[in-house]
Amino acid sequence: MSQQNLSFIDEVRRRRTFAIISHPDAGKTTLTEKFLLYGGAIHQAGSVKSRRSQKHAVSDWMEIEKQRGISVTSSVLQFEYNNFCINILDTPGHQDFSEDTYRTLMAADSAVMVIDSAKGVEAQTKKLFQVCKMRGIPIFTFINKMDRQGKDPFELMEDIENVLGIRSCPVNWPIGSGKEFKGVFNRQKDQIELFNDGNHGQSIAKSVVGKVDDEKFADLLGSSLHEQLLNDIELLDVAGDEFNLDQISKGELTPVFFGSALTNFGVEPFLESFLDITTPPTPRDSNMGVVDPESDNFSGFIFKIQANMDKSHRDRIAFLRICSGKFEKGMTVNHVQRGKKVKLAQPQQFVAQDRVIVDSAYPGDIIGIHDPGIFNIGDTLSQKQAKLQYKGIPQFAPEHFSRISTLNSLKRKQFLKGITQISEEGAIQVYKRPNIGMEELIIGVVGVLQFEVLEYRLKNEYNVDIRIERLPYRFIRWAETGSFDSHNMSMTMDTILVEDKDKNPAFLFQSEWSPTQLVSRNEGLVLSETSIY
Ligand code: GDP
Repeated sequence: MSQQNLSFIDEVRRRRTFAIISHPDAGKTTLTEKFLLYGGAIHQAGSVKSRRSQKHAVSDWMEIEKQRGISVTSSVLQFEYNNFCINILDTPGHQDFSEDTYRTLMAADSAVMVIDSAKGVEAQTKKLFQVCKMRGIPIFTFINKMDRQGKDPFELMEDIENVLGIRSCPVNWPIGSGKEFKGVFNRQKDQIELFNDGNHGQSIAKSVVGKVDDEKFADLLGSSLHEQLLNDIELLDVAGDEFNLDQISKGELTPVFFGSALTNFGVEPFLESFLDITTPPTPRDSNMGVVDPESDNFSGFIFKIQANMDKSHRDRIAFLRICSGKFEKGMTVNHVQRGKKVKLAQPQQFVAQDRVIVDSAYPGDIIGIHDPGIFNIGDTLSQKQAKLQYKGIPQFAPEHFSRISTLNSLKRKQFLKGITQISEEGAIQVYKRPNIGMEELIIGVVGVLQFEVLEYRLKNEYNVDIRIERLPYRFIRWAETGSFDSHNMSMTMDTILVEDKDKNPAFLFQSEWSPTQLVSRNEGLVLSETSIY
């Protein structure tokens, strides 16, 4: 999406690219949908009921998501709001798909963390927060479901600070809660914003705005709520952390907002402040130093590959995060890792629920490139600098392993095709035992639900039924090539040697002590916990 008469620099600076993270059910999908509603990309938000029964949320793509009601794969959405061009990276909340989320966070410049006001910080929030922290990106907190009776707002702030270890600074403060949730006090603008109507959240909520001492609020709020608000404001002035942009941009302080994605109360003030505070696309590290997004060499990296997203297309898409320069349709670029040139002929963008062909795109944007099987996660594409490489994306070690075979040996070819394609998306890891041949395939996953998804997808997309036998291994370590001789090794009881898809040797272990034991028995053996894509 681009506006006429804007320069390249203007286009870059109006981009905002962020991921939304949360524990399942905190309201991530609902909030995403409300952003689209306020951006004018959709005209009516589906309520809970319509999501679960008739209509599906716009960010849900795969059949399996609809059946299970959990987001399995991350999706990307672009929309406009107040002259900003926004890219939202939706991520699966379920922990079994966290690997996908980790990769998606590599493509984001900031993160919005959605928290359920009744539950506070939950297990998955904590894990995802750690990944954001590792990347040092700004984290914005939206405390959702204020229309329900939840925890005290001060207690929630304490929860964030104690459990996550990040300082917090409330930007909006809730006025009332549960049925009495009327709106927010906007500390930046120093004004009260009360909401009503919005047709149960299906349309934009109307608001009444004014200064705290405006007499109409004593009436609109009733004396006890009004008084409580005045007390809270005083407390915040002395108790809360001060707003500090520098600390926010380093991910050391999180701006906190309160609201209800369901009723839309507080959604717009959040969106406005968030877009104002968060940064345009940030410079990225590469083997050739830091790359400025406003430099003119078009470049980016692939962070996700997905096959058969839509049955009617049956294709494979590589998702590229643009890091610098302007992209133009039909452009020929260097595929750095392969040392070849590729033409980007039919790139797609994901606007609300549609896929459209893009003519041009800018840093911060995510484009989907048709992938005939040449791309890998972590690959760099660069127009002029043929050797430029962005930092690799870490591959998380699987924790569950199964032996997989097809129930119908006549379908072996389809079976292998499906396994290969799904593994290239990074959803599963495939291992073989050296010298045992093709008959035995071992699959490793980060979360066990991925086995079910694999079974489902092989049946639905490749028409293959499989048998899954769980194996007792829980740990994998990659061995540095040359650090051992497989024929003359002293193995431990619970260990087997495998090869990954790139023929790198690795060991599977049942107990967490076995790696140390193996190293002590075999001089020179060097093991590592991760491999890079
Ligand atoms: P996700 O798993 O984080 O994507 O969560 P969803 O957006 O699917 O929401 C989970 C459930 O919480 C759904 O039933 C939503 O309707 C409900 N929900 C989301 N936001 C709110 C809110 O602000 N208030 C209330 N009461 N319910 C909400």
